[in-house]
Amino acid sequence: MKPERFDYDLFLIGAGSGGVRAARMAAQHGVRVAVAEAAALGGTCVNAGCIPKKLLSYAAGYAEAFHESAGYGWHGQAPVLDWEALKAARAAELARLNGVYARLLASSGVQVIAGRGRLEGPHTVVVGGNRYTARHIVVATGGVPYVPDLPGRELAVTSDRMFDLPRIPRRLAVVGAGYIACEFASIFRGLGVEVTLVHRGNHLLDGFDADVRRFLAEEMGRKGIDIKLNWTVESLARGDDGGLTLTSGMGATCDADVVLFATGRVPNTANLGLESAGVQLDDKGAIVVDENYRTNLTSVHAIGDVSSRKQLTPVALAEAMALVECLFGAGRLSVDYDFIPTAVFTHPNVGTVGQTEAEARAASGQDGVIVYRSDFRALRHTLSGSGERTLVKLVVDKATDRVIGLHMVGPDAGEVIQGFAVALRAGATKALFDSTIGVHPTVAEEFVTLRQPATDH
Ligand code: NDP
Repeated sequence: MKPERFDYDLFLIGAGSGGVRAARMAAQHGVRVAVAEAAALGGTCVNAGCIPKKLLSYAAGYAEAFHESAGYGWHGQAPVLDWEALKAARAAELARLNGVYARLLASSGVQVIAGRGRLEGPHTVVVGGNRYTARHIVVATGGVPYVPDLPGRELAVTSDRMFDLPRIPRRLAVVGAGYIACEFASIFRGLGVEVTLVHRGNHLLDGFDADVRRFLAEEMGRKGIDIKLNWTVESLARGDDGGLTLTSGMGATCDADVVLFATGRVPNTANLGLESAGVQLDDKGAIVVDENYRTNLTSVHAIGDVSSRKQLTPVALAEAMALVECLFGAGRLSVDYDFIPTAVFTHPNVGTVGQTEAEARAASGQDGVIVYRSDFRALRHTLSGSGERTLVKLVVDKATDRVIGLHMVGPDAGEVIQGFAVALRAGATKALFDSTIGVHPTVAEEFVTLRQPATDH
């Protein structure tokens, strides 16, 4: 088929972060673009992920701030949370964002088609009984929560439901110890809930630096979260009193009013017609793509969580822009998957970029790495009465003096890490860190004042 014989040059299935970005960027190249979306515009990030989660995290932060303000001379009764008011405010903000996305797409000339898109062939998508053809098709359907198959799983909720709970539970049990588990445990603890986190492994946040994992567990424990490690969930049941009980393989139990399974997310590939169209999936159900996000069908591409590289919104955005440049632009734009900064919005936050100490030692040899680390009480907490501590850590390659890993557990770690990510990508050395003047008094200045290598390794 000649290009002009297609209804569109680009058809996107899914209007989440990656899909919307790709649609808008492509439209700027003057090509005909459509996007099919069955739910609200903006996908997981806007509607059930990053944005509402961060808003809840801010809400939880106020409780801590009210409490700590006494140390600064503020007196009087702390306000109480009106959950319904918070839900309404959050919903209004999300509706505003949905509207922003709709306007951005419309003003770019992108046609939004309501409904779930199904691939019918290399150039054909069906939405609600209508058939559309396109020169290029991009699958950007994201991921969905995964809940293990165990008795009582239907009694649990996933993160999607946490924003609209009918009431704040007295007790929350969280299963898992990844980003979502740790963030929701922190948020709901901050909102005053009794929180127990149960995890089958022996540490939180698998894949993060060991010092970060240990330190975060201590800080979460200090805030009152009961962390049960090496605790494998066997079943979930509802008792006569209406409460829920998790039972472990060892026969231990954990009671709660709400049980959140935060046990990972899987690519959203069901009912998309991928298998019948012949699109290759990997053993986890993710769409297999090459370095140009092309599937085994040359006209079909996939970006973001559905292709399962790094499940992060900014990665999907970067992939969207690289793909559009590749399909319609002048040159090649490639995504650099090294030194991707990331934050976990626990209380306190985790921020990290580059290698963990263990990864660096595995790559450069046990003695090929120098570690600098400090943990301290931030100035704010000298009067706040809080025992919260902050961790900063640098991992340095001995041969080149290059800082190859930077980790933090502390206030606004996500904000702090963003700037340092640029420095690490630029190849900053420890000597350059040392010659950089600090900003005083801040927590982040610790990163440029670390002088003594850690000796406990
Ligand atoms: P993660 O993969 O981060 O964590 C999943 C957790 O569930 C792990 O602790 C894992 O344990 C545990 N788990 C997996 N399967 C089972 C099982 N069958 N039984 C018991 N426990 C199990 O997933 P999340 O759901 O937390 O988040 C998904 C992704 O979304 C993240 O990886 C991240 O990329 C992204 N995200 C990013 C955020 C941010 O940038 N701030 C916020 C939220 C999500 P084990 O380690 O033993 O496998």
